Amino acid sequence: MTRFSQVGLALLTLSLVSAAGLALTSNMTAVHDGPATPDEAIKALMDGNARYVAGTPQSVNPPSAREALATTHAPFAAIVRCADARVSPEICFDATLGSLFVNGVAGNIITPEIIASFEYAVGTLGAKVIVVMGHRHCGAVEVAIQMRNKTDQLPGSLPMLIDQIIVPCALDANPDDVQAYEHEAVICNANKGVDQLTARSPLIAEAVKNGDLKIIAGVQDLTTGKFTITKQ
Ligand SMILES: [Zn+2]
Repeated sequence: MTRFSQVGLALLTLSLVSAAGLALTSNMTAVHDGPATPDEAIKALMDGNARYVAGTPQSVNPPSAREALATTHAPFAAIVRCADARVSPEICFDATLGSLFVNGVAGNIITPEIIASFEYAVGTLGAKVIVVMGHRHCGAVEVAIQMRNKTDQLPGSLPMLIDQIIVPCALDANPDDVQAYEHEAVICNANKGVDQLTARSPLIAEAVKNGDLKIIAGVQDLTTGKFTITKQ
C-alpha cells in the first residue's frame, strides 16, 4: 500500500537501503489489518487510552502473535515519546506488539534521526498517524525551563539536548506558578513538533497533504493516565 507517489516511495526505499544497508522485503510494504484511515488510527489510540485509564486493558501478546510478527509488522501509529520511564505508549494506548512504531528521546524532541524514522514508518510501513507525545512532570522540560539561556553550564552532551526543548516557545503563564508554567511548556514543546515535522520533511508533508497521514501532539497525565490531544 503506497503512501507517497511511486517516485517518492522509490526514493525513500532506495535511500534506506543504501544508507542503512537494510534489505527491504516485499512484506515490509505491509498490508494493514488495523485502522484504515488517519481518523480511525487516532480513534484506536484514544479508545485504547480510555481502557488504560479505566483499568480495563485488553491487549495481550501471546507466543503465536510474536511468531506472526517475526517477519513483518504494520504499525498504524508512529510515536515520539519522552524517554521518561513512566511513559510507555504500548501501555498508555493499550496496544499490542507490532501496532506502534515508537521512538524515544528525552523531551520528545524532533531530531533528524526521529524524522528519518518517521519517514520509514509512514512511507514503508504505512503508519496512519504520527504522535508527538509529551507528559506532565517532564524532567527534561523542567531542566529546559530552569537552564534557559544558560545551558552551557550543563555537563556532557546535555546542552545539545536541552537547547532543543521548549525553544522557541513564548510562555505566557506566570513563572511563579511553577505547575502552570511547566504545563504550558510541556504542551508547547509537544505542539511545536507537529509543525517541525511537516516543515522539515517533504515526504511527511506530502503524506499529510494527500490525506494519508495526520500528525497530532498530546500530553499524558501521569496520575490519571489520560492522554489529551493538544494539537491536531
Ligand atoms: Zn519527560
